[in-house]
Amino acid sequence: MSTPLSQAEFIVNSGKTASNTQVDLNWAAEHWLAARAMPDDAEVHAVSMRAAQDLGRRTGYIPLAAPLTMLALLVASPQLYSHWLPIATLYLIMTTVALLRIGIARKLAEAKSESILHLARRYQVTVDLAGFSWGSLVGLILLFHGVDHVSELALVASVAITASALTSLTLELSLWRRFVLIMWLPLVTLSAAAAMQELEYGWLLVVIELLFIVFAAVQGQRVVKDYIAGILSSINLEHAVSTIATQRDELQTHQIRLDELLAQTHNLSYYDQLTGIGTRNHFYERLETNISASRINGNQFAVLYLDVDGFKDINDTLGHEAGDELLKTIACRVRSLLRASDFAARLGSDELALMVNGVAHTSDLFSIVQRYMKEVQMPVKLCEKMICPRVSIGIALYPVDGDNTFSLLKAAESAMNAAKTDTKLHYARYSPEMTIAAQQRLTIEQEMRLALSTGQFRLHYQPQVEALSGLVCGVEALVRWQHPERGLIPPNDFITVAENTGLIDELGQWVLVTACNQAARWLDADENIFSVAVNISPLQLLDRGFVNRVRSALNTTGLSPHLLELEITESAVQTHIEARETLVQLRELGVRIAIDDFGTGYSSLASLKELPIDRVKTDRVFVTDMLASERDMALLGNIIDMAHVLGCSVVAEGVEELAHVEKLQSLNCDCLQGYYFSRPVEASKIPEFARAAAARAEMGTRTAVSADRA
Ligand code: C2E
Ligand code: CA
Ligand code: CA
Repeated sequence: MSTPLSQAEFIVNSGKTASNTQVDLNWAAEHWLAARAMPDDAEVHAVSMRAAQDLGRRTGYIPLAAPLTMLALLVASPQLYSHWLPIATLYLIMTTVALLRIGIARKLAEAKSESILHLARRYQVTVDLAGFSWGSLVGLILLFHGVDHVSELALVASVAITASALTSLTLELSLWRRFVLIMWLPLVTLSAAAAMQELEYGWLLVVIELLFIVFAAVQGQRVVKDYIAGILSSINLEHAVSTIATQRDELQTHQIRLDELLAQTHNLSYYDQLTGIGTRNHFYERLETNISASRINGNQFAVLYLDVDGFKDINDTLGHEAGDELLKTIACRVRSLLRASDFAARLGSDELALMVNGVAHTSDLFSIVQRYMKEVQMPVKLCEKMICPRVSIGIALYPVDGDNTFSLLKAAESAMNAAKTDTKLHYARYSPEMTIAAQQRLTIEQEMRLALSTGQFRLHYQPQVEALSGLVCGVEALVRWQHPERGLIPPNDFITVAENTGLIDELGQWVLVTACNQAARWLDADENIFSVAVNISPLQLLDRGFVNRVRSALNTTGLSPHLLELEITESAVQTHIEARETLVQLRELGVRIAIDDFGTGYSSLASLKELPIDRVKTDRVFVTDMLASERDMALLGNIIDMAHVLGCSVVAEGVEELAHVEKLQSLNCDCLQGYYFSRPVEASKIPEFARAAAARAEMGTRTAVSADRA
C-alpha cells in the first residue's frame, strides 16, 4: 500500500481500520469505472469521479504518440506497401481513435458526476480500439515484413512496451486485463504465425511477447492500485482538512456562545434584574474583599441595611408593578449618592444593602445616612398618586459590630429591625442587645409553633359594663400564652412575632372559635353576658378567606352573629382599601365591628363616617390623661359626641378609678372597661362577676368589686 494513504488514514482517523480501507482500495481499483455499482459509497464514488477527471486531464495529446510512432515504423518499411489496404485501414482506425480519445478526455476533465460514466465508457471503447489496431498493425508488420535484425526486434519490443505503458496507466483493473488481451492477442497470434513460417527470431519474439504480457499484467495492476490509493489519500486529506476547518468553525461558534452564556450568567448572578444594582451574592463577594482589605489597612467601613416600610401595603393597594417601580426609583436614588468606593445591592424583595467606605467617625456616618434618607424619601409618583416612601436603615460598622460578612450583615439587619420601631429617626446603629432581642424573637417563634400544636394558649375575658347601669354588657377576649417554663406570657410579647411569621392566622382562628364557643356556652347556661369582642390583626383582615372563617366559626359554635364583635385597629382600615370591603361583608353577616384604640392613629373623626362600624373603643391614654389634661378631656368628649352622631356607641378603655367612671358618665360614654371593674380573667369567673354587677345595680350602688379580686 502507498504511504500517502496511510497518512490520510492517520489524519482523518475516520474510524475505519486499515484493512477496511484496503478493501475499499481494491474495490475502487477494480470498479471505479463501473459507477453504477457504487452509487451509495460516497467515498468510492468520489474516487471514481476524481480518477475519471484525472484520466481526462492526463490524457492530453498522448494518444497521438501511437499513430505517430506507427507512421515512423511504416515509413521505414517500404516492403509493406504491397499490403497497403489492411495496413491503411488499421492505421486510419488508430488515428481516428486517438483523436476521438483526445476529445473525450477533454470532456472527461470537466465532467460532472452524471455524465462521467457515459464518457468513461466511450473513452474505454477508444482504448479498446487503439489496443486492437495497435496489436494488429504490429502483428501484420511482423507477418509481412519479418524481423531481420536484433535491433528491429528491440524496436518492436520497445514500441509494444511504450504502448502498453501509455494506455494502461489509469484504467481499472478488469478493463486493463481486457486491454492486455485485445492488444496482445492479435500480436501474439500473428507473431506465432510468422514464427511458424520459419521467421528468424520468430519464437524468441513470441516468448518475449508472453513475458511482456505477464509483466504488463503485474505492473499494470500495481500502477492502477497505487494510482487509486493516491487519489483516495488526497481525498481523505482534503476531507480531513475540511473537517478540521468545520470543526474549528463550530468550536469557534461554541466558544462565542459559551462566552455569551458566561456573561449572561455573570450578569444574572451579579446584577439584580429589576433595579440594576448588585445581587446578594455580589454583595457578599464585595463585602468579603472589603473586609480582607480593611484587615490589612485598618480602615473601618459601614454596612447599611435599608428596608422599605409598608412595602407590602404598596404592593397590595397599588399593585406589584407600582411596587417594582418604587424599588427601581429607590435603587436609582441610592445609586446617585454612591461614591466610587461604595457598593449597593438588593438583598431581597424590599431590602437593600449598602457598603460605605472611608467612615472615620460615627458622626460622619449619621450624616451620610441622613443624606440617603432624605434622597430616598422624596415624593414619588406611582399610579398617578404622590407617595412619600419611608425606609428604615440599620447601621453596622466594621470591625466593631462584626468582623465577617455574616456577622456584619446580621448586625445591620438587627439594627434595621430596631430602626423600624424608632418612630422618630427611622435609623439605628447596631448594639449587642439587638442580637439578644432578635434571638429571643426566633426562640419565641419556634416555641409558638409548638404552643399552637400542644394547646398552650388561653383566653382571658375582661368585662365591659354599661356606664349608667353598671350591668355587664359584654366581654373582650384577650389571649395569653401559658408557657411551661416562663408562666403566663402577655399578648404584647408574642402577637407581633405571630404577625411577622404568619402564625397569626392560625392563632387568630383559634381565638375566634374559642371565644365564640365560650359565648355560646354562657348563652346556653342562661348567663346575661351579651357580646364577646375578639381582637383581629390587620393581617387576618387582609386574608381573602377571612369572612368565610368567621362564618364557619359562627356555624360550628352556633353563636348568633350579632353577639360577636370584631375589634379592628383604625390603621388596618385606613391603609388597606380591601379591608373596607371585608368589613362590609362581615356586617352583612350580622357581625358587629368596633374600632379599637381609637385616637392613636392618623384617622380623623370625619373618616369614621365612611366606615361600616358599630362601636368606637377609645384608646387607654385618653382616660389615663383625662384627669390631668383638660385638652384630653375635651377631645374625649368630642369623640364620644361625634360617634353618637354617626350612630356608634363608645367604649372607654383603661378605666382604673372611680373618678374615671364619673367623668366618663358625665361625657355620655356608653360602656366602660378597665381594671377598676376587673382585669381580664378566666372564663369561669365572668358569670359570677356579671351576677354581682347585676345585684349591685339592683341595689343602686356602682361600687364594683373586681372579678379578679372576687
Ligand atoms: P387591646 O385590644 O387594647 O386590649 C386591651 C389591653 O389593655 C389588654 O392588655 C388589657 O389587659 C389592658 N387593660 C384593660 N384595662 C386596663 C386598665 O384599666 N389599665 C391598663 N393599664 N390596662 C388595661 P392585654 O391583654 O395585655 O392585651 C394587649 C394587646 O394585645 C391588646 O390590646 C390587643 O391589641 C392584643 N391582643 C390581645 N389578645 C389578642 C388577640 O386575641 N388577637 C390579637 N390580634 N391581638 C390581641
Ligand atoms: Ca382590643
Ligand atoms: Ca384597645
